[in-house]
Amino acid sequence: MGNKAYRFRLYPNQEQQAFLAKCFGCSRFVYNHFLRVTTDVYAESKKHFRYKEWARLLVQLKKEFQWLAEVNSQSLQQTLKDLESAFTRFFKKLAKFPRFKKRLSRQSFRVPQHFSVTSDGKLKLPKMNTIKMVVHREIEGTLKNVTISKTPSGKYYASIVTETEIYKAPLTGEKIGLDLGLKDFVITSKPEKFPNPRYFQKSLRRLKIRQRRLSRKVKGANNRSKARLIVAKIHEKVANQRLDYQHKISLKLTCENQAISCEDLNIKGMVKNRKLAKQISDVAWGQFLTLLEYKGDIYGCEIHRVDRFFPSSKRCSKCGYIKEDLTLTDREWTCPECSEHHDRDVNACYNLLQFSDLKIPLEEREFTPNQTVEMLCIKSVSS
Ligand SMILES: [Zn+2]
Repeated sequence: MGNKAYRFRLYPNQEQQAFLAKCFGCSRFVYNHFLRVTTDVYAESKKHFRYKEWARLLVQLKKEFQWLAEVNSQSLQQTLKDLESAFTRFFKKLAKFPRFKKRLSRQSFRVPQHFSVTSDGKLKLPKMNTIKMVVHREIEGTLKNVTISKTPSGKYYASIVTETEIYKAPLTGEKIGLDLGLKDFVITSKPEKFPNPRYFQKSLRRLKIRQRRLSRKVKGANNRSKARLIVAKIHEKVANQRLDYQHKISLKLTCENQAISCEDLNIKGMVKNRKLAKQISDVAWGQFLTLLEYKGDIYGCEIHRVDRFFPSSKRCSKCGYIKEDLTLTDREWTCPECSEHHDRDVNACYNLLQFSDLKIPLEEREFTPNQTVEMLCIKSVSS
């Protein structure tokens, strides 16, 4: 059994839109309130409030602000759980310190239970009548939870998570090393290269013009919200194009292979390089790795992340020689030890493949995983 996610477009009527706005507002209010409380308490007493304290305080808060009782109480508790995981991710150094949610960015709240999809494909949420939804694919499995969101451009979506029997692709025994880059987005040890489409770069000129127009509009004016909508739509289009491209590649790779080893990227550290920051956020490697892991779970492909300090580019994948003087501009190089000629990125992929601890269920394992990988590498290098 595994989880599967579906995203459907919602078409709430005006009355429903007003109620959803209330739900988004309450969820945002609770999130921001407890984020503030927690930072204040910590500043004063070095005590760190977590979900248990928040849930207790939420009961009091609801007495103080009675409009909070108008929305589904489980969604508010869920918001606190989301805040907790935001803090957890921060303490594990996986994310920045939680930020306040803004009224004009993407809005969302989650319904952890007591919702359903009617036989004619409408969504039933607690305290609301059914909302029109476009169910463009069949929902498999039992419903687990649903997140309702509204994009800055004003579109509504339901992301439904179900628990279902997962179809595992037949064992292929195929393993690859995978490298992420800027010139080519994905390079594999096969070798295969997927170009970087640079969607953001391509929209940049249009975006700059629209952003300049937006900045000239008077705050609070009607024309300002119109201009903001146009900017939001450009951003949305770029994000959709990118996501679509990444869905296709990650699906192909996880279906064709049984194990993928890739570099564990220090994305945050990389973005500090101001020259590259824009390009790096445009390729969205982090999002791609998330997709890869999610699909790997579904299709039975193990994703292994190799420690990021491993010198994957500088090492000759054939003899192990480390070429210390290799620079970022060297796209190709020849090993002085064994005179093997390398494509920089493909060589890195071979190394990642060799150095990962691949746990692949092999039918009859005559060799250790490392030996198998070694043989595979030598085979692919010579072919
Ligand atoms: Zn060599």
